[in-house]
Amino acid sequence: MVVKLDHIGIAVADLDAAMKVYTDVLGLKSAGVEVVEEQKVRVAFFPVGDTEVELLESTDPEGPIAKHIEKRGEGVQHLAFRVDNIEAALDEMRAKGIRLIDEKPRYGAGGARIAFLHPKATGGVLIELSEREA
Ligand code: ZN
Repeated sequence: MVVKLDHIGIAVADLDAAMKVYTDVLGLKSAGVEVVEEQKVRVAFFPVGDTEVELLESTDPEGPIAKHIEKRGEGVQHLAFRVDNIEAALDEMRAKGIRLIDEKPRYGAGGARIAFLHPKATGGVLIELSEREA
């Protein structure tokens, strides 16, 4: 069901400043910047090997990333695992009694269909399941 580590999500206060670390320091290339209205974020993806780094900047002081930074500061916010079928994955989680944040998939960056598991069910790590093409 889990295919690979799709990406690592990092909460940042200033996307343009944070992008410089990945371009100027690490020499990576951004796959582009995208606003995801539904999640109140502006994101940049940096493909690296078989996975990606996702930088997330809040577009709203009430958004989940703004709240995360308020409580915990900037830094790693979630791990996203690629699944081949997100409905089947969510059914499997429910059958295992895992608490979910999203009962139904919603749309994330890059047209992915995503759902979050509750960090209380996963040892404090916010886990995103993501189904997308290629
Ligand atoms: Zn993500």
